[in-house]
Amino acid sequence: MKNPNILIIGAGINGLVAANYLQRSGCHVTMIERAERVGGACVSEVATIDGVSESYALGASVLGLMQDFVFAETGLANRLRTFVPEHPKFIYFPGDPEPTWIYREPQRLDRELADKWGEKGDVNAFRADEAKVVRFLQDGYVNATPPSLDDAKSVLGETLTKLWISGSAKNLLDHYFTSERSKMYMAMTVTESGPVSLSDSYSAFTLPLMDSGSIFGGYYGFVKGGIWQITGELGRINAELGVKTHLSSKVVAVDTDENTVIFEKAGREESLDFDYLVVGTDPLTATRLIGNAEQIRKTEGQRFRGSSGKLNLMFKNPVRWKTGSRASDSDAAFRFIFSVSNLDEYEKATLKVLDTNVDYAPGFMQIYCEGAAMRHLEHAEPFDRLAVFFKNLSLGEQGDDLSEVETQVRETLFEYIENPQDCIWTRLLTPKDLQQLFHFPGGNLDHTMLTGGQTFFDRTYADDPATNFYLFGGHDNVYVCGSGTYPCGSVAGTPGYMCAQQLLRSARPG
Ligand SMILES: Cc1cc2nc3c(=O)[nH]c(=O)nc-3n(C[C@H](O)[C@H](O)[C@H](O)COP(=O)(O)OP(=O)(O)OC[C@H]3O[C@@H](n4cnc5c(N)ncnc54)[C@H](O)[C@@H]3O)c2cc1C
Repeated sequence: MKNPNILIIGAGINGLVAANYLQRSGCHVTMIERAERVGGACVSEVATIDGVSESYALGASVLGLMQDFVFAETGLANRLRTFVPEHPKFIYFPGDPEPTWIYREPQRLDRELADKWGEKGDVNAFRADEAKVVRFLQDGYVNATPPSLDDAKSVLGETLTKLWISGSAKNLLDHYFTSERSKMYMAMTVTESGPVSLSDSYSAFTLPLMDSGSIFGGYYGFVKGGIWQITGELGRINAELGVKTHLSSKVVAVDTDENTVIFEKAGREESLDFDYLVVGTDPLTATRLIGNAEQIRKTEGQRFRGSSGKLNLMFKNPVRWKTGSRASDSDAAFRFIFSVSNLDEYEKATLKVLDTNVDYAPGFMQIYCEGAAMRHLEHAEPFDRLAVFFKNLSLGEQGDDLSEVETQVRETLFEYIENPQDCIWTRLLTPKDLQQLFHFPGGNLDHTMLTGGQTFFDRTYADDPATNFYLFGGHDNVYVCGSGTYPCGSVAGTPGYMCAQQLLRSARPG
């Protein structure tokens, strides 16, 4: 089919990236989005403090997992400015007089980890082997090749495939590191999406996966204004390319025999026809819209639990950290605060919140100094802002009902800040809030947990993934590309890109 009509449900980053590639390839793309704006979980909200307003990142905050070619080819690179702090990250463990510095230079980092954490393992081998796995993943992304263990084995060999893809994080970390602290620092990535045990099979894979962004060479950074500029700008670029978008339009039914979608807009039902349908929502919504009873039962049985909280804070004066350096970007460096001292405590805190009677089991906090980053990008704002992404929360309560948890998080954070009295506004979001705000099942940032049976080649809803990984079930014109599909969530758009490429290959064979 030369110029097919393509309907995309959901204008999050994945729907938007898919729309961009498909429209530029000559397809006629229409998007249907339930919310009144595009962006999904990559959007802003406004805080008004004493009559003064400032935007902040409601969901996602930092950019890093996007592929450099997606940033360039969509047109985003020409429109947005970014900033990546080069300053070493600071890691604070309980009771330490000084933080540990995570240097970019391998030799300095080796020395620091040996001095501070007594690390005697092979950090260089870890880095070199991870780079091989990351390269393998990135080649798969750009070629839109479905992941398979056979491909991994033929490129990486049996040993690396077992260690880095199908094995457990515990086994991987024990292989390269000796110090509990090095292992905990690395383990943060594994439990980022939800309460995954470090002993779960395939839990090792999350490490190279989360380092496989190429936009900043595996590092994370900021976008001038805020990360929501990525989705907002992509929406504008797509509109200029000719993509039509229906906002405030909730899809309520899909007829895959008639190739028709029915949606509610302003209290009225409307319908649109399609040649191809792409669903960029979470997998539960997608399956309920297009699946049969068996597919719905299977998807409902997936593990969805998220355990991340986010505390946004505004300060009336720039945050002054008690530890830092004289380097100009020290104020924007990433900071990580642990509340646990060893791996056993770490694992217990991670899994404790599977019980919804436990509101909070302190694990670690990742601090994104967004306001400082905006100053480096010469973006003036009335307040300084921090985003604290932290673990471990259950699915039981909303942030507004957990003031004691918020107090605990603030107190831990404020130990490291000289001017906590300048904090004048906060907002706490829990997995339950994320479930309600963004319709993430179980509040999981990746739409489903990254764990055995739900990652790598399993992150598909196709009956025959080897033929076309992003097709839904046995359909030949219905695709899914939300964050529940390979590789994972994040403001990256990789599933959207890969899905668009596979659709184009099948629509225009040869
Ligand atoms: C608190 C938080 C912090 C995060 N931090 C980061 C971070 O720092 N960096 C990072 O890279 N990622 C981060 N993430 C993850 C990232 O934001 C998500 O993985 C990503 O935005 C998901 O994109 P998506 O397009 O797959 O899905 P979504 O963003 O979920 O978009 C799906 C869209 O589908 C629409 N939709 C759903 N049902 C229907 C329907 N029936 N009809 C019409 N439309 C429908 C929704 O309204 C939504 O707009 C964070 C997420 C959260 C919540």
